[in-house]
Amino acid sequence: MLFYQVLKSSPKDSEHPYTLGGADMSRFAIRWLNEKTLKISGTIDEYFSLDSEFGKFSEEIFLDMRGVSRINSCGVREWIKFMGRVASRVHYVNCSSIIVAQFSMIPEFIGKKGVVDSFEVQFVCPRCGHEDALILTVGKDILPGRETYSDTPDLICSECSSAMECDHDPELYFSFLSEVPPLAEIS
Ligand SMILES: [Zn+2]
Repeated sequence: MLFYQVLKSSPKDSEHPYTLGGADMSRFAIRWLNEKTLKISGTIDEYFSLDSEFGKFSEEIFLDMRGVSRINSCGVREWIKFMGRVASRVHYVNCSSIIVAQFSMIPEFIGKKGVVDSFEVQFVCPRCGHEDALILTVGKDILPGRETYSDTPDLICSECSSAMECDHDPELYFSFLSEVPPLAEIS
C-alpha cells in the first residue's frame, strides 16, 4: 500500500540546517517569506504541525516546499489531515522531488483547493557525476492535463557541458499533472 511507504531520505537531508534537538523533536522549520508565502523546510513526520499557522492562512496562500528533504507516512497523514481543514487556495511552489513523489502517489496530498505552481526536477551528469536541478513552472515549462508524460526537460552540465540525464521516470514523476485541469479551468 503506497500510503504507508516510507520514502528514503534525500542525500540533501544531512545538509539542511534546521535539525533541532532536545525537548522539541521536530525536524522541520517554517518561515513566512511574506504575508502569503510560507516556506517549509526539513522533515515532515509525526512531529510536524502547521496548527500554529492555521489562523494566518488567508484566502490564497503559497507554500514554498523546496527545502522539504524527507517525509514519512506519519507526516503524510498529518499533512492530509491539516489540508482537509484548510479552506484557502493553496499554491505549491518550488516543490522538492520528495513532495512531487507524494503528489503522484497520493492525490489527496495536494488538498481540495491545492494547485502546483512549480516543482523541482533533478539531473545527474553521466560524464562527471555533477548533480543539478531545474524548477519547472506548470503552464509555462510543462503543460498540465496531458494523458501521459514521456519527455524530460534538457539540461547541459555546468561543469563539463555534457547533456545531463533526468533523475526521474517522467511517466511516474509527472503523472500528477495528468489530474490537473488545463490552466484555463483553474480558478
Ligand atoms: Zn558533467
